[in-house]
Amino acid sequence: MAMVASSGTNDSIQNMVIIGSGPAGYTAAIYAARANLSPLLITGFQRGGMPGGQLMTTTQVENFPGFPDGILGPDLMDRMKAQAERWGTRLVEADADRLDLQQRPFLVEADGDVFRTHSLILALGARANRLGIATEARFWAKGISACAICDGATPQFRGQPLAVVGGGDSACEEAAYLTRYSSEVHLVVRRHELRASRAMVDRVLANPGITVHWNRQLVACHGEAWLESITLQHSQDPEQREKLSVQGVFYAIGHTPNTELLKGQLGLDDGGYVELPCPGAPNTTIEGVYAAGDVADRRWRQAITAGGSGCQAALAAERWLTESNLARLMARSQPEPAAAVLPQQQEAATAASFDPAAAWQKGSYSLRRLYHESDKPLLVVYTSPGCGPCHVLKPQLRRVIQELDGQVMGVEIDIEVEQEIAQQAGVRGTPTTQLFWRKALVQQWQGVRQRSEFHRSIANLLDHGT
Ligand SMILES: Cc1cc2nc3c(=O)[nH]c(=O)nc-3n(C[C@H](O)[C@H](O)[C@H](O)COP(=O)(O)OP(=O)(O)OC[C@H]3O[C@@H](n4cnc5c(N)ncnc54)[C@H](O)[C@@H]3O)c2cc1C
Repeated sequence: MAMVASSGTNDSIQNMVIIGSGPAGYTAAIYAARANLSPLLITGFQRGGMPGGQLMTTTQVENFPGFPDGILGPDLMDRMKAQAERWGTRLVEADADRLDLQQRPFLVEADGDVFRTHSLILALGARANRLGIATEARFWAKGISACAICDGATPQFRGQPLAVVGGGDSACEEAAYLTRYSSEVHLVVRRHELRASRAMVDRVLANPGITVHWNRQLVACHGEAWLESITLQHSQDPEQREKLSVQGVFYAIGHTPNTELLKGQLGLDDGGYVELPCPGAPNTTIEGVYAAGDVADRRWRQAITAGGSGCQAALAAERWLTESNLARLMARSQPEPAAAVLPQQQEAATAASFDPAAAWQKGSYSLRRLYHESDKPLLVVYTSPGCGPCHVLKPQLRRVIQELDGQVMGVEIDIEVEQEIAQQAGVRGTPTTQLFWRKALVQQWQGVRQRSEFHRSIANLLDHGT
């Protein structure tokens, strides 16, 4: 999966490795790349969220400066990524699996590749918590979701009663968002108050589609193949229980810093956040290692604060590399790099625009034609516009198709636009990917997967017909 080094130890020593591709990681990369340090950024894949970080799971970001009308979270992250790449950041699309900060240069292992680096920026962010109730695993993705924005638009949830668990900004935002699709949204709040901003609290309480259940905890989920109801229990009185009929439960119950990788390597505080001994400075307990964003911030937790601390970390690392005489600057042939490349929106094909030879297409017209007429394996990905994981998966699938050089076709279906097709296909969340061959469904994947998984399945199909 790693794009930069081949397998094994990479001989050259990096100036700077950045781990994490949220606002903190990309901002650090933009600063370091503009300082000609040619940083290597390990984006993360599955271990602690996804490439692009937490904003990939939200819709409109209304408070990031420079976007007066707001911007979709995934679009904002696409822009940060493009800006970082434009100035020469090298991306490794993998999780960092192991660190050794006891030796210099530091070692970072990602997907089998070992990188040596003089300086390191930890921008690993945080991830959504789960409740851990008994039936959680059974109903996960069959009614329970941690991302209203990703899954709210799916047919199973539309017009159905839904619940959101949590009492902070995320819970309020998700409850308000879900009223687009359901007029009956229950907000389950453990305490007698909401811990959200005043504006958010007012918005929720004034929304006739939201019923707040104060002092209540979710303790059980029920149903057959899909979630049908939940049991709420009074937070102080376990005898007080009630059942609510809902087809969906969305968790919004806080985050845990992604610091498992760092245990025993450097100082962490009681909550597992990276310890920053000098308040306001990005320096960790190890010289040459810096932290930025939510991984070291239990208080502000905003895209702009994460970005700001990413900038601080890059500047501090740059100064330290220069003072230590370790920096090796890249030479630019042009002072101004070429324009940034942003993902393009594709139009759904019509009878007039359909091209049977195009390896990647959009819309049900293409799907029908290729399903009936093509003898090649067909990858169909069901997406929705605000779904961050879809932003991550689509380029992966496009690359699989490109790498297989005409042996397989791909079609994207936007389930917001093509509800009926999504219903017929039994789609229960986005992204869902289906592999068809000779009019039969061979395999289905939910969520983001490594390219190697798709390659394996398609190779099996082509080699053995299974
Ligand atoms: C639903 C929701 C809505 C929000 N809305 C807003 C908003 O409107 N405005 C706002 O300012 N903030 C908002 N926030 C908060 C904001 O998203 C975070 O504060 C911000 O994303 C933190 O940035 P970060 O770079 O520190 O970490 P993250 O965004 O969490 O990114 C962490 C990165 O580290 C990577 N990573 C983790 N482990 C590894 C590993 N082992 N190896 C490699 N990489 C790894 C992850 O893949 C990810 O790329 C929202 C958050 C949520 C959940």
